[in-house]
Amino acid sequence: RTGSFLQFTNNRHAAGNRLLMVRDISRLRQLEQMRQDFVANASHELRTPLTVLQGYLETFADLSDALPERLRKGVDLMLAQTKRMANLVNDLLLLTRLDSIDKPVDAKPVDMNVLLNSILTDARALASEKGHRFELHLDSPVALLGVENELRSAFSNLIYNAVNYTPADGEIVVRWRHDAQGGYLSVTDNGVGIDQKHLPRLTERFYRVDISRSSSTGGTGLGLAIVKHVLMHHGARLDIDSQLRRGSTFTCCFPANLLQTDASESADD
Ligand code: ADP
Repeated sequence: RTGSFLQFTNNRHAAGNRLLMVRDISRLRQLEQMRQDFVANASHELRTPLTVLQGYLETFADLSDALPERLRKGVDLMLAQTKRMANLVNDLLLLTRLDSIDKPVDAKPVDMNVLLNSILTDARALASEKGHRFELHLDSPVALLGVENELRSAFSNLIYNAVNYTPADGEIVVRWRHDAQGGYLSVTDNGVGIDQKHLPRLTERFYRVDISRSSSTGGTGLGLAIVKHVLMHHGARLDIDSQLRRGSTFTCCFPANLLQTDASESADD
């Protein structure tokens, strides 16, 4: 009797715990949803005033010859900071969107050759200011089943980081290859590198290794968090290999079922 009484109490206890857990989880979900909605709404509301500010500051910057020296410097500084804030708002919006959906909703074949060349065309302007050299190696034409604007954000973040965290006259290699296991997009630089102790936290939002250096690049601290979320969204993962003062390689590893080689496309037809 005592045994069954104890069991009864235990069961009640266990059931009570279970009930409590269910309540806890739904409360946590609710709070998480509120957090996401708040960030999304706040970012959205900030967009319009920032666009207006940026527009007027650009007009002032165009007229800078007519402005006194002190004002000219102020306008340039305000314009740079306004652009930085606009980037931050866009990154926050993208991250909350990535948070709220589990899988890509509109995945389509993305031509890696076209996508990487278009990102590099834009990045070359900034890279040449720093005297960097770019190399692009592409395995045979292949399309990746994914969301193009998300992949563009992820790859751009890695490529711009390589440009920003490499001292003048660096070398940056972008490589796309694939095998039976999957597809791999890697970005290698011979820049400042990262101490091993930072690697586990590197993809956290706003995590920065060297705050003074990062703020001078104009980055938002959200780049690698975006990369991680885009990859998770595609069932892919990010590998980081880095050595302090030697350089870094960031590799996006995509599962084989997202690859569309010429052979698999014709097999589907
Ligand atoms: P940020 O906007 O600061 O660049 P990220 O999320 O893109 O934010 O990167 C987080 C931090 O990781 C950076 O502040 C920088 O310290 C480090 N990092 C990222 N990419 C590289 C790289 N290629 N070489 C060295 N450090 C890097």
